[in-house]
Amino acid sequence: MESVCRGNSTGGSNPLASATLNQHQDKIIMDNNIVIKMSGLTKRYGYGDTASFALQDFDLEIRRGEFVMIMGPSGCGKTTLLNIIGLLDRATDGEYYLNGEDVSDISSARQARLRAKKIGFIFQDFNLIQNLTVIENVALPLVYVNRPRTVRLKAASNALKRFHLSEREYYHPSQLSGGQKQRVAIARAIVSDPEIILADEPTGNLDSRSSSIVMDELKAIHEEGNTIIMVTHNPALTVYATRVINMLDGQIATDVKTVSDYNLPQPISVKSKKRRRKSRKEEK
Ligand code: ADP
Ligand code: MG
Repeated sequence: MESVCRGNSTGGSNPLASATLNQHQDKIIMDNNIVIKMSGLTKRYGYGDTASFALQDFDLEIRRGEFVMIMGPSGCGKTTLLNIIGLLDRATDGEYYLNGEDVSDISSARQARLRAKKIGFIFQDFNLIQNLTVIENVALPLVYVNRPRTVRLKAASNALKRFHLSEREYYHPSQLSGGQKQRVAIARAIVSDPEIILADEPTGNLDSRSSSIVMDELKAIHEEGNTIIMVTHNPALTVYATRVINMLDGQIATDVKTVSDYNLPQPISVKSKKRRRKSRKEEK
């Protein structure tokens, strides 16, 4: 098990990697395995006497292929952090690099474009649109990357097939169980093949059986080389993680890697993803 100190969590056991990174830390990210880098990030609500800080001088580096679980008491800043990572919100101060690009100060339009291409979201309450069918819900992220309707529906149908939900394509969300809703939401999160999946208490509203099905799906997505950052209150779920961060009062209290950087899953091509899914299906 590898403990990670705050503010110096890069490089793993490779001293050369950290040396290169430290030399250039303030300018540019040299190591393209680092997908997220935040330094001195602060999120303040209110001003003057009424100011409160959801994140305070927050430093974090996340490598491609990590499965990070974020824990901590209610109000410690977990959702704020996820929303900033996912470009749904922005910090008051500090720097945020996404894939080496400084995104701290980009326009809302650029935020939306990057979000559509690179990030998939999964929420505790599923956030499905009630008056759209299941397949239309799953196809939705592809509207933002300008895919034609037929391409969108085909991709959504493939994603639903993966989660054994093909028969539910034309149902509405209200006709599904909680577990099925969350699997639809996962299909929606991965339909545009994003590099990063953000999940805010995805099993918070599920019974333990649905919860393990959802976790197994996330595990499979992680094994394909995707980066997952998930907030949870359930310590039992940390067995799925390669790294567990505990937050307290807008800061990192503990940060432990259970898998070394050199043993993280590598991204695999779309072709081999399909092959892998096919052989998994055949095993079943
Ligand atoms: P968590 O997800 O860990 O429960 P949050 O990130 O939701 O915590 O909130 C962190 C802190 O920021 C809390 O004290 C919360 O009250 C405050 N906060 C969150 N959103 C807002 C907001 N829109 N306005 C004012 N305070 C907020
Ligand atoms: Mg929260």
